[in-house]
Amino acid sequence: MTIQTNCINKTQYPMVTVNLKKLYHNAKITVDNCKKSSIKIAGIIKGCNGIAEVGRTMLDAGCIQLGTSRIDQIIDLKNSGMTDTEFLLVRIPMISEAEEVAMYADLSLESEISVIKAINKACSKFKKRHGVILMADLGDLREGFWNKHELTKAAIYIENELENIDLKGVGTNLGCYGSIKPNTKKMEELSDIAQIVESKIGRKLEIISGGATSSYPLVLNGTMPCRINHLRIGEGILLSYDLKEIWGLDMNSMYQDVFTLKAEVIEVKEKPTHPVGEIFIDCFGRKPQYEDLGVRKRALVAMGKLDFALDDKIFPRTCGVRVIGSSSDHCIVDIEDCSENIAVGDILEFDLSYPSLMYLTGNRYVNIRTI
Ligand SMILES: *Cc1c(COP(=O)(O)O)cnc(C)c1O
Repeated sequence: MTIQTNCINKTQYPMVTVNLKKLYHNAKITVDNCKKSSIKIAGIIKGCNGIAEVGRTMLDAGCIQLGTSRIDQIIDLKNSGMTDTEFLLVRIPMISEAEEVAMYADLSLESEISVIKAINKACSKFKKRHGVILMADLGDLREGFWNKHELTKAAIYIENELENIDLKGVGTNLGCYGSIKPNTKKMEELSDIAQIVESKIGRKLEIISGGATSSYPLVLNGTMPCRINHLRIGEGILLSYDLKEIWGLDMNSMYQDVFTLKAEVIEVKEKPTHPVGEIFIDCFGRKPQYEDLGVRKRALVAMGKLDFALDDKIFPRTCGVRVIGSSSDHCIVDIEDCSENIAVGDILEFDLSYPSLMYLTGNRYVNIRTI
C-alpha cells in the first residue's frame, strides 16, 4: 500500500519501505519496558517526517502521544483523520506559529514566557486549551531555562495567570547539541526542579519528561529515578540503531531493519579505484583522498546526496557491497567482493540510520511504502 507518494512522476525508485509489524514490535517492547518503571512514552515521528502509518502503529503499541518538531506534520496528521490523538510539539514553538500551535497541538515543550502568552491568547480566540511542559537546560545547551529560578517563576505565572494554559510538567533534553549523556544525576536534577515547582504551585505535576532515546538506557539498566514518568522516543523505536551501534547495548530484541532503502542499479563495470587524470575538486567542491586498490567491479546506483545527504549513513544489506562515494544523483558501490551477481536493473537494499532516514523520507523523489 502506498501511503505517501512524494513522486511527481512514475519512477518507483529510490523507495523506502516501512515494515509496520517490526515497527510495532519495537514500539511495544519500548512501551512495555518503560511501563515497568511507570514511564509513559510519546512516540516521536519527526525522524521519518511524520508518516501517518508510523504514528498509528506507535499509538497501537501503547504510546500515549505522538510528537514531532514540525507543526505542519501535526496539521497533516490531524487532517488525515487522527483527531483523537494527543499531539506534542517537541521543538519549542516560533512565536509566529502560536495560532497553529493553539489550534493543532495539544501539548508543547516551552522555554519562553512570551511565546506561552501568545499561545494562551490564541487559545482564547479558538476556545482551546493547551498543555505545556517547561524545559530545563541541564547542560546540553540547546532549548530550556538555564536559570531554575526563572523556570519556577514561569511555572507560577502560568499556573496563576494564564487561563487557557495547563502546566503539565517539566522536561529536559540531553545528548543533542552538547552531546551530554543522560545519567541518574541529571535525572535527579530534573526531579528536584519538579519538586520545587510542585511546592510552589501546591500540586503534583503530571509529566516529568526525562528526555529522548538517549535517556532510555537508564530505564533498561534500572537507574532511572522514580519521579521521571515520561520519555519522548523516536530513534530507539524507528531504527534502534544508536543504542546498539553507538551505546553498545544489547538491542537484539529490537529490529534494526524497520526501514529499507531500495534503489536501482544503472551501470555495472570494472573500473580503476583511483581517478585517472589531474585530481582537482569533486562536485561538492571538496578534495577527497582516493585509495588505489587497482581495478575493481562496481555498480552505479540511481540515487544520490539529494536523497540521503550522507553516503556514510546508508548501509548496504548485501554482503560484499560497500558504498565508496556519491554525487547529488549517483551512488557508487564497490561490488568486487560480492558473491552475488549484481546486474543492471537489480534493486539493492540498504539499512538506514537517523540522518539518512530523515533526509530520505522528507524528499519528494523518494517513494514511501508500508509493508
Ligand atoms: C527529536 C526529539 C526527541 C526524540 O529524539 P530521539 O532521539 O529520536 O528519541 C525528543 N525530544 C526532543 C525535544 C526532540 O527534539
